Amino acid sequence: MVKKKNRYMSEPAEKVTMSNGAIVNKQMGEYYSQVSKPKVTHLTDKIAVLEHFSIDNTVVIQGDNGLIIWDTGFNMGVGKQKFEAIRNFTDKPVKAVIYSHNHYTNGARQFVPKGFEGIDIEVIAHPDVHKNVLNSSVELGKMLKKTTAQHFGFYLPKVGPDAPPVSYDGGVEADKSSGYVQPTYGVQDKEEMEIDGVRFQFFHTPSDTMDSITAWLPEHDTVITNSIWHVLPNLYTLRGQPYRDPLYWLEGIDQVRKLNPKILIPAHGEPVSTKESSYELATNYRDAIAFIYSQTIRGINKGLKSDEIAEEVTLPEHLANHPRLKEVYGELTHQVKGIYSGLIGWFSLDAADINPMSTQYRSEKIVEGFGGIEKVIQASEKALKEREYAWTAELITHVLNIHPDKEQARLIKAKALREMGQATPALSSRGFYLSQALHLEGKIDLNNISNPFLPIEKSIKLLEYKIDPEKLGQINKLLKICFSDLTECFGLDVRKGVAEFLEEEPIDPDITLKISSNLWISFVLGKLEIEEVMEDSNVQVDGNQSVLIEVMQAFEL
Ligand SMILES: [Zn+2]
Repeated sequence: MVKKKNRYMSEPAEKVTMSNGAIVNKQMGEYYSQVSKPKVTHLTDKIAVLEHFSIDNTVVIQGDNGLIIWDTGFNMGVGKQKFEAIRNFTDKPVKAVIYSHNHYTNGARQFVPKGFEGIDIEVIAHPDVHKNVLNSSVELGKMLKKTTAQHFGFYLPKVGPDAPPVSYDGGVEADKSSGYVQPTYGVQDKEEMEIDGVRFQFFHTPSDTMDSITAWLPEHDTVITNSIWHVLPNLYTLRGQPYRDPLYWLEGIDQVRKLNPKILIPAHGEPVSTKESSYELATNYRDAIAFIYSQTIRGINKGLKSDEIAEEVTLPEHLANHPRLKEVYGELTHQVKGIYSGLIGWFSLDAADINPMSTQYRSEKIVEGFGGIEKVIQASEKALKEREYAWTAELITHVLNIHPDKEQARLIKAKALREMGQATPALSSRGFYLSQALHLEGKIDLNNISNPFLPIEKSIKLLEYKIDPEKLGQINKLLKICFSDLTECFGLDVRKGVAEFLEEEPIDPDITLKISSNLWISFVLGKLEIEEVMEDSNVQVDGNQSVLIEVMQAFEL
Protein backbone atom coordinates (compact mmCIF):
# COMPACT_ATOMS: atom_id res chain seq x y z
CA MET A 1 0.00 0.00 0.00
CA VAL A 2 1.24 3.49 -0.87
CA LYS A 3 0.79 6.45 1.45
CA LYS A 4 -1.12 9.28 -0.20
CA LYS A 5 -0.44 12.98 0.25
CA ASN A 6 -2.12 14.76 3.12
CA ARG A 7 -3.99 17.64 1.51
CA TYR A 8 -3.70 19.67 4.69
CA MET A 9 0.10 19.58 4.85
CA SER A 10 2.55 21.62 2.74
CA GLU A 11 0.78 21.55 -0.64
CA PRO A 12 -0.82 24.93 -1.47
CA ALA A 13 -4.40 24.20 -2.52
CA GLU A 14 -5.85 25.60 -5.74
CA LYS A 15 -8.69 27.91 -4.71
CA VAL A 16 -11.46 29.78 -6.48
CA THR A 17 -13.89 32.53 -5.41
CA MET A 18 -17.59 31.79 -5.84
CA SER A 19 -20.18 34.42 -6.89
CA ASN A 20 -21.15 35.00 -3.21
CA GLY A 21 -17.50 35.64 -2.35
CA ALA A 22 -16.85 32.19 -0.84
CA ILE A 23 -13.22 31.10 -1.13
CA VAL A 24 -13.18 27.38 -1.79
CA ASN A 25 -11.06 24.55 -3.11
CA LYS A 26 -11.12 24.61 -6.93
CA GLN A 27 -12.73 21.17 -7.30
CA MET A 28 -15.42 22.12 -4.79
CA GLY A 29 -16.03 25.44 -6.56
CA GLU A 30 -16.39 23.82 -9.96
CA TYR A 31 -18.77 21.21 -8.61
CA TYR A 32 -21.06 23.44 -6.56
CA SER A 33 -21.31 26.19 -9.18
CA GLN A 34 -23.05 23.59 -11.40
CA VAL A 35 -25.57 22.58 -8.76
CA SER A 36 -26.57 25.89 -7.23
CA LYS A 37 -29.44 26.74 -9.60
CA PRO A 38 -32.79 25.03 -9.00
CA LYS A 39 -34.19 23.26 -12.07
CA VAL A 40 -37.14 21.11 -13.07
CA THR A 41 -36.53 18.29 -15.57
CA HIS A 42 -39.44 16.49 -17.26
CA LEU A 43 -38.05 13.01 -17.83
CA THR A 44 -41.31 11.79 -19.41
CA ASP A 45 -44.78 13.33 -19.69
CA LYS A 46 -45.55 11.69 -16.31
CA ILE A 47 -42.30 12.02 -14.34
CA ALA A 48 -40.48 15.22 -13.37
CA VAL A 49 -37.49 15.80 -11.08
CA LEU A 50 -36.83 18.92 -9.04
CA GLU A 51 -33.09 19.35 -8.55
CA HIS A 52 -30.94 21.77 -6.56
CA PHE A 53 -33.74 23.34 -4.51
CA SER A 54 -32.00 21.59 -1.63
CA ILE A 55 -29.69 18.62 -1.35
CA ASP A 56 -32.45 16.09 -2.11
CA ASN A 57 -34.21 15.51 -5.40
CA THR A 58 -37.98 15.69 -5.33
CA VAL A 59 -39.65 13.45 -7.89
CA VAL A 60 -43.18 14.17 -9.13
CA ILE A 61 -45.10 11.27 -10.67
CA GLN A 62 -48.46 12.00 -12.29
CA GLY A 63 -51.05 9.33 -11.53
CA ASP A 64 -54.60 8.93 -12.82
CA ASN A 65 -56.03 11.80 -10.77
CA GLY A 66 -53.20 13.45 -8.94
CA LEU A 67 -49.53 13.57 -7.97
CA ILE A 68 -47.21 11.24 -6.12
CA ILE A 69 -44.35 13.15 -4.49
CA TRP A 70 -41.00 11.53 -3.60
CA ASP A 71 -39.18 13.49 -0.83
CA THR A 72 -39.99 16.96 0.38
CA GLY A 73 -36.83 18.85 1.32
CA PHE A 74 -34.92 20.01 4.37
CA ASN A 75 -37.47 22.31 5.97
CA MET A 76 -40.80 24.08 5.39
CA GLY A 77 -39.12 26.84 3.39
CA VAL A 78 -37.57 24.43 0.89
CA GLY A 79 -40.83 22.45 0.79
CA LYS A 80 -42.67 25.66 -0.16
CA GLN A 81 -40.23 26.46 -2.96
CA LYS A 82 -40.64 22.94 -4.32
CA PHE A 83 -44.41 22.98 -4.05
CA GLU A 84 -44.61 26.31 -5.91
CA ALA A 85 -42.32 25.01 -8.67
CA ILE A 86 -44.65 22.02 -9.11
CA ARG A 87 -47.66 24.33 -9.31
CA ASN A 88 -45.99 25.99 -12.31
CA PHE A 89 -46.59 22.89 -14.40
CA THR A 90 -49.57 21.11 -12.84
CA ASP A 91 -52.50 21.93 -10.61
CA LYS A 92 -53.41 18.30 -9.87
CA PRO A 93 -53.89 17.47 -6.18
CA VAL A 94 -51.25 15.57 -4.21
CA LYS A 95 -52.38 11.96 -3.70
CA ALA A 96 -49.35 10.50 -1.93
CA VAL A 97 -46.00 11.47 -0.45
CA ILE A 98 -43.19 8.92 -0.28
CA TYR A 99 -40.17 9.35 2.01
CA SER A 100 -36.96 7.82 0.64
CA HIS A 101 -35.68 7.68 4.25
CA ASN A 102 -35.95 9.80 7.41
CA HIS A 103 -33.74 12.68 6.19
CA TYR A 104 -35.91 14.71 3.79
CA THR A 105 -39.23 14.65 5.57
CA ASN A 106 -39.37 18.19 6.96
CA GLY A 107 -40.94 19.89 3.94
CA ALA A 108 -43.87 17.42 3.91
CA ARG A 109 -46.46 19.72 5.51
CA GLN A 110 -46.33 21.92 2.38
CA PHE A 111 -47.65 18.96 0.37
CA VAL A 112 -50.00 17.50 3.00
CA PRO A 113 -52.41 20.03 4.54
CA LYS A 114 -53.21 19.31 8.21
CA GLY A 115 -55.79 16.56 8.56
CA PHE A 116 -55.33 15.24 5.02
CA GLU A 117 -52.80 12.55 5.93
CA GLY A 118 -54.16 9.03 5.75
CA ILE A 119 -57.48 10.31 4.34
CA ASP A 120 -56.83 12.18 1.09
CA ILE A 121 -53.06 11.80 1.04
CA GLU A 122 -51.15 8.66 1.93
CA VAL A 123 -47.68 9.23 3.45
CA ILE A 124 -45.63 6.17 2.58
CA ALA A 125 -42.27 5.19 4.08
CA HIS A 126 -40.18 2.38 5.52
CA PRO A 127 -41.95 1.22 8.71
CA ASP A 128 -39.07 2.50 10.92
CA VAL A 129 -39.01 6.10 9.67
CA HIS A 130 -41.23 7.51 12.42
CA LYS A 131 -39.37 5.74 15.21
CA ASN A 132 -36.04 6.96 13.83
CA VAL A 133 -37.25 10.56 13.48
CA LEU A 134 -38.44 10.58 17.10
CA ASN A 135 -35.34 8.90 18.50
CA SER A 136 -32.89 11.11 16.65
CA SER A 137 -34.65 14.22 17.93
CA VAL A 138 -34.69 13.00 21.53
CA GLU A 139 -31.49 11.14 22.30
CA LEU A 140 -28.84 13.04 20.38
CA GLY A 141 -31.06 15.83 19.14
CA LYS A 142 -29.03 18.62 20.66
CA MET A 143 -25.71 17.32 19.36
CA LEU A 144 -27.17 16.63 15.91
CA LYS A 145 -28.58 20.14 15.60
CA LYS A 146 -25.13 21.53 16.28
CA THR A 147 -23.22 19.12 14.05
CA THR A 148 -25.73 19.30 11.19
CA ALA A 149 -25.44 23.08 11.22
CA GLN A 150 -21.64 22.83 11.00
CA HIS A 151 -21.76 20.09 8.35
CA PHE A 152 -24.04 22.05 5.99
CA GLY A 153 -22.58 25.47 6.80
CA PHE A 154 -25.73 26.90 8.45
CA TYR A 155 -23.62 28.92 10.92
CA LEU A 156 -21.59 30.55 8.14
CA PRO A 157 -22.20 34.08 6.82
CA LYS A 158 -24.22 34.05 3.57
CA VAL A 159 -21.65 36.16 1.69
CA GLY A 160 -17.89 36.66 1.85
CA PRO A 161 -14.89 34.32 2.04
CA ASP A 162 -16.40 32.03 4.70
CA ALA A 163 -19.81 31.69 3.02
CA PRO A 164 -20.98 28.20 1.98
CA PRO A 165 -20.61 27.46 -1.75
CA VAL A 166 -24.23 26.34 -1.91
CA SER A 167 -27.35 26.89 0.19
CA TYR A 168 -29.24 23.79 1.26
CA ASP A 169 -31.70 25.40 3.66
CA GLY A 170 -33.68 27.46 1.17
CA GLY A 171 -31.76 30.72 1.71
CA VAL A 172 -32.07 33.59 4.18
CA GLU A 173 -35.82 34.10 3.80
CA ALA A 174 -36.82 30.43 4.04
CA ASP A 175 -38.85 29.08 6.95
CA LYS A 176 -36.41 26.75 8.70
CA SER A 177 -39.04 24.97 10.78
CA SER A 178 -39.90 21.29 10.48
CA GLY A 179 -43.06 20.28 8.66
CA TYR A 180 -42.59 16.58 9.28
CA VAL A 181 -45.73 14.50 8.77
CA GLN A 182 -45.91 11.06 10.37
CA PRO A 183 -46.11 8.30 7.74
CA THR A 184 -49.54 6.73 7.38
CA TYR A 185 -48.34 3.55 5.71
CA GLY A 186 -45.17 1.47 6.28
CA VAL A 187 -44.11 -0.50 3.22
CA GLN A 188 -42.61 -3.96 3.52
CA ASP A 189 -39.60 -5.18 1.56
CA LYS A 190 -40.64 -6.19 -1.98
CA GLU A 191 -44.22 -4.95 -1.40
CA GLU A 192 -46.15 -4.16 -4.55
CA MET A 193 -48.95 -1.60 -4.63
CA GLU A 194 -50.85 0.69 -6.90
CA ILE A 195 -50.88 4.37 -6.01
CA ASP A 196 -53.31 6.55 -7.98
CA GLY A 197 -53.20 4.05 -10.85
CA VAL A 198 -49.38 3.78 -10.92
CA ARG A 199 -47.78 0.41 -10.13
CA PHE A 200 -44.96 0.46 -7.57
CA GLN A 201 -42.73 -2.13 -5.99
CA PHE A 202 -40.74 -1.06 -2.93
CA PHE A 203 -37.50 -2.55 -1.66
CA HIS A 204 -35.84 -2.03 1.70
CA THR A 205 -32.38 -0.85 0.72
CA PRO A 206 -30.39 0.47 3.72
CA SER A 207 -27.86 3.11 2.67
CA ASP A 208 -27.06 6.19 4.78
CA THR A 209 -29.95 5.18 7.03
CA MET A 210 -31.37 1.74 7.71
CA ASP A 211 -34.85 3.01 6.76
CA SER A 212 -34.01 3.78 3.11
CA ILE A 213 -36.23 2.45 0.34
CA THR A 214 -36.01 2.03 -3.41
CA ALA A 215 -39.07 2.34 -5.64
CA TRP A 216 -39.51 0.41 -8.91
CA LEU A 217 -42.15 1.66 -11.34
CA PRO A 218 -42.35 -1.17 -13.90
CA GLU A 219 -44.75 0.61 -16.29
CA HIS A 220 -42.33 3.52 -16.49
CA ASP A 221 -39.15 1.38 -16.46
CA THR A 222 -37.97 3.70 -13.67
CA VAL A 223 -36.14 3.27 -10.38
CA ILE A 224 -35.94 5.94 -7.66
CA THR A 225 -33.39 5.17 -4.99
CA ASN A 226 -31.46 6.58 -2.05
CA SER A 227 -28.69 4.02 -2.64
CA ILE A 228 -27.04 6.09 -5.38
CA TRP A 229 -25.95 9.71 -5.04
CA HIS A 230 -24.09 12.37 -6.97
CA VAL A 231 -20.86 12.25 -4.95
CA LEU A 232 -18.64 9.79 -3.10
CA PRO A 233 -21.11 8.15 -0.69
CA ASN A 234 -20.86 9.15 2.94
CA LEU A 235 -20.39 5.71 4.46
CA TYR A 236 -19.65 7.83 7.51
CA THR A 237 -20.79 11.34 8.28
CA LEU A 238 -19.00 13.93 10.42
CA ARG A 239 -22.44 14.87 11.80
CA GLY A 240 -22.34 11.68 13.87
CA GLN A 241 -24.87 9.03 12.88
CA PRO A 242 -25.18 5.28 13.37
CA TYR A 243 -22.88 2.92 11.43
CA ARG A 244 -23.80 2.77 7.76
CA ASP A 245 -23.01 -0.81 6.89
CA PRO A 246 -21.53 -0.89 3.36
CA LEU A 247 -22.67 -4.50 2.89
CA TYR A 248 -26.33 -3.45 3.15
CA TRP A 249 -25.66 -0.46 0.92
CA LEU A 250 -24.18 -2.77 -1.75
CA GLU A 251 -27.22 -5.07 -1.62
CA GLY A 252 -29.46 -2.12 -2.39
CA ILE A 253 -27.41 -1.05 -5.41
CA ASP A 254 -27.24 -4.62 -6.64
CA GLN A 255 -31.04 -4.68 -6.54
CA VAL A 256 -31.02 -1.60 -8.79
CA ARG A 257 -28.54 -3.30 -11.14
CA LYS A 258 -30.83 -6.32 -11.32
CA LEU A 259 -33.80 -4.13 -12.25
CA ASN A 260 -31.57 -2.25 -14.71
CA PRO A 261 -34.13 0.50 -15.39
CA LYS A 262 -34.15 2.83 -18.35
CA ILE A 263 -34.64 5.78 -16.02
CA LEU A 264 -32.64 5.86 -12.80
CA ILE A 265 -33.37 8.72 -10.41
CA PRO A 266 -30.96 8.93 -7.50
CA ALA A 267 -31.94 10.67 -4.26
CA HIS A 268 -29.22 13.21 -4.99
CA GLY A 269 -27.86 14.22 -8.39
CA GLU A 270 -28.82 14.02 -12.03
CA PRO A 271 -31.11 11.23 -13.24
CA VAL A 272 -29.95 9.06 -16.15
CA SER A 273 -32.21 7.91 -18.98
CA THR A 274 -30.74 4.88 -20.75
CA LYS A 275 -30.30 1.27 -19.66
CA GLU A 276 -26.55 1.46 -20.41
CA SER A 277 -26.00 4.60 -18.37
CA SER A 278 -28.07 3.38 -15.43
CA TYR A 279 -26.11 0.12 -15.33
CA GLU A 280 -22.78 1.95 -15.66
CA LEU A 281 -23.67 4.35 -12.84
CA ALA A 282 -24.95 1.66 -10.47
CA THR A 283 -21.97 -0.59 -11.14
CA ASN A 284 -19.32 2.08 -10.63
CA TYR A 285 -21.10 3.36 -7.55
CA ARG A 286 -21.22 -0.10 -5.96
CA ASP A 287 -17.62 -0.79 -6.99
CA ALA A 288 -16.41 2.32 -5.14
CA ILE A 289 -18.19 1.20 -1.96
CA ALA A 290 -16.96 -2.38 -2.38
CA PHE A 291 -13.39 -1.19 -2.94
CA ILE A 292 -13.34 1.07 0.15
CA TYR A 293 -14.86 -1.69 2.27
CA SER A 294 -12.58 -4.50 1.11
CA GLN A 295 -9.42 -2.38 1.32
CA THR A 296 -10.31 -1.32 4.85
CA ILE A 297 -10.74 -4.99 5.78
CA ARG A 298 -7.39 -5.73 4.13
CA GLY A 299 -5.72 -3.01 6.23
CA ILE A 300 -7.33 -4.23 9.46
CA ASN A 301 -6.11 -7.77 8.84
CA LYS A 302 -2.61 -6.41 8.25
CA GLY A 303 -2.72 -4.97 11.76
CA LEU A 304 -2.85 -1.33 10.69
CA LYS A 305 -4.55 1.37 12.72
CA SER A 306 -7.56 3.27 11.45
CA ASP A 307 -5.62 6.41 10.43
CA GLU A 308 -2.90 4.32 8.79
CA ILE A 309 -5.46 2.54 6.59
CA ALA A 310 -7.13 5.86 5.78
CA GLU A 311 -3.75 7.18 4.64
CA GLU A 312 -3.31 4.28 2.24
CA VAL A 313 -6.68 3.62 0.59
CA THR A 314 -6.88 5.31 -2.82
CA LEU A 315 -9.65 4.58 -5.31
CA PRO A 316 -8.61 3.05 -8.67
CA GLU A 317 -8.25 5.75 -11.30
CA HIS A 318 -11.51 5.05 -13.18
CA LEU A 319 -13.47 5.40 -9.93
CA ALA A 320 -11.46 8.33 -8.53
CA ASN A 321 -12.12 10.23 -11.77
CA HIS A 322 -15.78 9.21 -12.06
CA PRO A 323 -17.93 12.37 -12.04
CA ARG A 324 -20.29 10.87 -9.40
CA LEU A 325 -17.56 9.79 -7.02
CA LYS A 326 -15.80 13.06 -6.22
CA GLU A 327 -14.87 13.87 -2.64
CA VAL A 328 -16.90 17.08 -2.77
CA TYR A 329 -19.23 16.09 0.08
CA GLY A 330 -17.25 13.82 2.43
CA GLU A 331 -13.65 12.64 2.20
CA LEU A 332 -12.43 9.13 1.42
CA THR A 333 -10.47 9.03 4.70
CA HIS A 334 -13.71 9.52 6.66
CA GLN A 335 -15.28 6.49 4.99
CA VAL A 336 -12.35 4.24 5.84
CA LYS A 337 -12.29 5.33 9.48
CA GLY A 338 -16.07 4.96 9.66
CA ILE A 339 -15.86 1.34 8.51
CA TYR A 340 -13.04 0.66 10.95
CA SER A 341 -15.01 2.01 13.89
CA GLY A 342 -18.18 0.26 12.74
CA LEU A 343 -16.42 -3.09 12.68
CA ILE A 344 -13.87 -2.76 15.48
CA GLY A 345 -15.04 0.13 17.66
CA TRP A 346 -12.85 2.67 19.45
CA PHE A 347 -9.92 0.39 20.24
CA SER A 348 -6.81 0.73 18.04
CA LEU A 349 -5.82 -2.83 19.06
CA ASP A 350 -2.56 -1.43 20.52
CA ALA A 351 -2.53 -2.37 24.23
CA ALA A 352 -1.23 1.10 25.09
CA ASP A 353 -4.61 2.42 24.00
CA ILE A 354 -6.68 0.25 26.34
CA ASN A 355 -6.39 2.72 29.21
CA PRO A 356 -4.67 5.82 27.89
CA MET A 357 -4.09 9.00 29.90
CA SER A 358 -6.68 11.75 29.85
CA THR A 359 -6.62 14.43 27.16
CA GLN A 360 -5.72 17.03 29.78
CA TYR A 361 -2.79 15.00 31.17
CA ARG A 362 -1.43 14.23 27.72
CA SER A 363 -1.56 17.89 26.68
CA GLU A 364 0.18 19.03 29.87
CA LYS A 365 3.02 16.53 29.32
CA ILE A 366 3.41 17.41 25.64
CA VAL A 367 3.50 21.15 26.38
CA GLU A 368 6.03 20.49 29.15
CA GLY A 369 8.13 18.40 26.76
CA PHE A 370 8.19 21.24 24.24
CA GLY A 371 9.49 23.57 26.97
CA GLY A 372 6.26 25.33 27.93
CA ILE A 373 3.32 27.19 26.41
CA GLU A 374 5.38 29.84 24.60
CA LYS A 375 7.50 27.20 22.89
CA VAL A 376 4.38 25.37 21.66
CA ILE A 377 2.97 28.64 20.34
CA GLN A 378 6.23 29.36 18.51
CA ALA A 379 6.32 25.86 17.01
CA SER A 380 2.68 26.21 15.95
CA GLU A 381 3.34 29.56 14.27
CA LYS A 382 6.30 28.05 12.43
CA ALA A 383 4.18 25.09 11.29
CA LEU A 384 1.46 27.47 10.11
CA LYS A 385 4.01 29.43 8.07
CA GLU A 386 5.25 26.21 6.53
CA ARG A 387 1.66 25.32 5.57
CA GLU A 388 1.56 22.32 7.91
CA TYR A 389 -2.04 23.18 8.74
CA ALA A 390 -3.17 19.83 10.10
CA TRP A 391 -0.15 19.68 12.41
CA THR A 392 -0.63 23.31 13.49
CA ALA A 393 -4.24 22.61 14.48
CA GLU A 394 -3.26 19.47 16.37
CA LEU A 395 -0.28 21.01 18.18
CA ILE A 396 -1.97 24.23 19.28
CA THR A 397 -4.94 22.24 20.56
CA HIS A 398 -2.69 20.96 23.34
CA VAL A 399 -2.38 24.54 24.60
CA LEU A 400 -6.13 25.07 24.31
CA ASN A 401 -6.81 21.84 26.19
CA ILE A 402 -5.03 23.48 29.15
CA HIS A 403 -6.02 27.12 28.54
CA PRO A 404 -9.19 27.16 26.41
CA ASP A 405 -9.43 30.96 26.50
CA LYS A 406 -5.86 31.77 25.46
CA GLU A 407 -6.50 34.26 22.67
CA GLN A 408 -3.22 33.84 20.82
CA ALA A 409 -3.69 30.07 20.66
CA ARG A 410 -7.33 30.40 19.59
CA LEU A 411 -6.35 32.65 16.69
CA ILE A 412 -3.54 30.34 15.53
CA LYS A 413 -5.93 27.40 15.53
CA ALA A 414 -8.59 29.46 13.72
CA LYS A 415 -6.07 30.36 10.99
CA ALA A 416 -5.07 26.72 10.51
CA LEU A 417 -8.71 25.58 10.39
CA ARG A 418 -9.62 28.28 7.88
CA GLU A 419 -6.74 27.23 5.61
CA MET A 420 -7.94 23.62 5.85
CA GLY A 421 -11.49 24.75 5.14
CA GLN A 422 -10.31 26.46 1.98
CA ALA A 423 -8.11 23.54 0.96
CA THR A 424 -10.65 20.77 1.36
CA PRO A 425 -12.77 19.63 -1.59
CA ALA A 426 -15.39 18.28 0.85
CA LEU A 427 -18.39 20.40 1.80
CA SER A 428 -18.87 18.77 5.21
CA SER A 429 -15.22 19.20 6.22
CA ARG A 430 -15.29 22.85 5.12
CA GLY A 431 -18.42 23.44 7.17
CA PHE A 432 -16.78 22.11 10.33
CA TYR A 433 -13.43 23.83 9.74
CA LEU A 434 -14.90 27.27 9.10
CA SER A 435 -17.63 27.10 11.77
CA GLN A 436 -15.06 26.23 14.41
CA ALA A 437 -12.60 28.87 13.12
CA LEU A 438 -15.32 31.52 13.46
CA HIS A 439 -16.21 30.21 16.92
CA LEU A 440 -12.56 30.45 18.06
CA GLU A 441 -12.45 34.02 16.76
CA GLY A 442 -15.55 34.84 18.79
CA LYS A 443 -17.57 35.71 15.67
CA ILE A 444 -20.21 33.03 16.09
CA ASP A 445 -21.40 30.89 18.99
CA LEU A 446 -21.74 27.20 18.13
CA ASN A 447 -23.93 26.73 21.18
CA ASN A 448 -26.49 29.18 19.86
CA ILE A 449 -28.92 26.64 18.43
CA SER A 450 -32.65 26.31 18.61
CA ASN A 451 -34.14 23.35 20.46
CA PRO A 452 -34.71 20.22 18.43
CA PHE A 453 -38.29 19.23 17.63
CA LEU A 454 -39.66 17.50 20.74
CA PRO A 455 -42.84 15.46 20.44
CA ILE A 456 -44.85 15.35 23.66
CA GLU A 457 -44.78 11.54 23.78
CA LYS A 458 -40.97 11.67 23.96
CA SER A 459 -40.67 14.61 26.34
CA ILE A 460 -40.57 12.50 29.51
CA LYS A 461 -38.18 9.99 27.91
CA LEU A 462 -35.80 12.92 27.34
CA LEU A 463 -35.29 13.17 31.11
CA GLU A 464 -33.53 9.78 31.09
CA TYR A 465 -30.60 11.52 29.40
CA LYS A 466 -30.52 14.62 31.58
CA ILE A 467 -29.73 13.18 35.02
CA ASP A 468 -27.08 14.66 37.26
CA PRO A 469 -26.26 11.49 39.25
CA GLU A 470 -24.78 13.49 42.13
CA LYS A 471 -28.15 15.13 42.72
CA LEU A 472 -30.34 12.11 42.00
CA GLY A 473 -28.04 9.56 43.64
CA GLN A 474 -30.13 8.93 46.76
CA ILE A 475 -33.64 9.43 45.42
CA ASN A 476 -36.07 6.58 44.76
CA LYS A 477 -39.49 7.83 43.63
CA LEU A 478 -42.21 6.71 41.28
CA LEU A 479 -43.84 9.65 39.51
CA LYS A 480 -47.03 9.82 37.53
CA ILE A 481 -47.20 12.68 35.04
CA CYS A 482 -50.56 13.58 33.52
CA PHE A 483 -51.10 16.04 30.69
CA SER A 484 -54.32 17.86 31.51
CA ASP A 485 -55.03 18.89 27.91
CA LEU A 486 -54.32 15.45 26.43
CA THR A 487 -55.94 13.35 29.15
CA GLU A 488 -52.93 11.07 29.02
CA CYS A 489 -50.71 9.91 31.88
CA PHE A 490 -47.24 8.41 31.84
CA GLY A 491 -44.73 7.34 34.47
CA LEU A 492 -41.19 8.16 35.46
CA ASP A 493 -39.50 5.74 37.81
CA VAL A 494 -36.51 7.40 39.43
CA ARG A 495 -34.06 4.91 40.95
CA LYS A 496 -30.87 6.45 42.37
CA GLY A 497 -29.22 7.98 39.33
CA VAL A 498 -31.32 6.12 36.77
CA ALA A 499 -34.71 7.20 35.46
CA GLU A 500 -37.02 4.97 33.48
CA PHE A 501 -39.80 6.38 31.35
CA LEU A 502 -42.97 4.29 31.64
CA GLU A 503 -45.43 4.38 28.78
CA GLU A 504 -48.11 2.84 31.00
CA GLU A 505 -49.28 5.05 33.85
CA PRO A 506 -48.11 3.70 37.24
CA ILE A 507 -50.80 2.31 39.54
CA ASP A 508 -49.40 3.35 42.90
CA PRO A 509 -47.18 6.41 42.35
CA ASP A 510 -45.42 8.32 45.15
CA ILE A 511 -46.25 11.65 43.53
CA THR A 512 -48.66 12.65 40.74
CA LEU A 513 -48.09 15.79 38.69
CA LYS A 514 -50.91 17.14 36.56
CA ILE A 515 -49.73 19.75 34.06
CA SER A 516 -50.54 21.15 30.61
CA SER A 517 -48.39 19.78 27.79
CA ASN A 518 -47.18 23.28 26.82
CA LEU A 519 -45.99 24.08 30.30
CA TRP A 520 -44.30 20.71 30.59
CA ILE A 521 -42.46 21.19 27.27
CA SER A 522 -41.27 24.63 28.42
CA PHE A 523 -39.88 22.97 31.54
CA VAL A 524 -38.07 20.08 29.84
CA LEU A 525 -36.58 22.45 27.27
CA GLY A 526 -35.11 24.46 30.14
CA LYS A 527 -37.18 27.59 29.52
CA LEU A 528 -38.78 27.48 32.97
CA GLU A 529 -37.45 26.42 36.38
CA ILE A 530 -39.50 23.85 38.30
CA GLU A 531 -40.34 26.49 40.96
CA GLU A 532 -41.83 28.71 38.25
CA VAL A 533 -43.83 25.76 36.91
CA MET A 534 -45.24 25.11 40.39
CA GLU A 535 -46.52 28.69 40.62
CA ASP A 536 -48.91 28.09 37.71
CA SER A 537 -52.40 27.77 39.12
CA ASN A 538 -53.32 24.92 36.77
CA VAL A 539 -50.55 22.65 38.01
CA GLN A 540 -51.70 20.06 40.53
CA VAL A 541 -49.49 17.91 42.71
CA ASP A 542 -50.74 14.92 44.62
CA GLY A 543 -47.98 14.00 47.09
CA ASN A 544 -44.94 15.76 48.50
CA GLN A 545 -44.31 18.86 46.41
CA SER A 546 -40.86 19.62 47.84
CA VAL A 547 -39.67 16.09 46.98
CA LEU A 548 -41.02 16.54 43.45
CA ILE A 549 -39.05 19.79 43.18
CA GLU A 550 -35.94 18.02 44.46
CA VAL A 551 -36.32 15.26 41.83
CA MET A 552 -36.91 17.72 38.99
CA GLN A 553 -33.90 19.80 40.02
CA ALA A 554 -31.71 16.75 39.48
CA PHE A 555 -32.24 16.95 35.70
CA GLU A 556 -29.92 19.19 33.71
CA LEU A 557 -32.32 20.94 31.39
ZN1 LIG B 1 -29.76 10.81 3.77
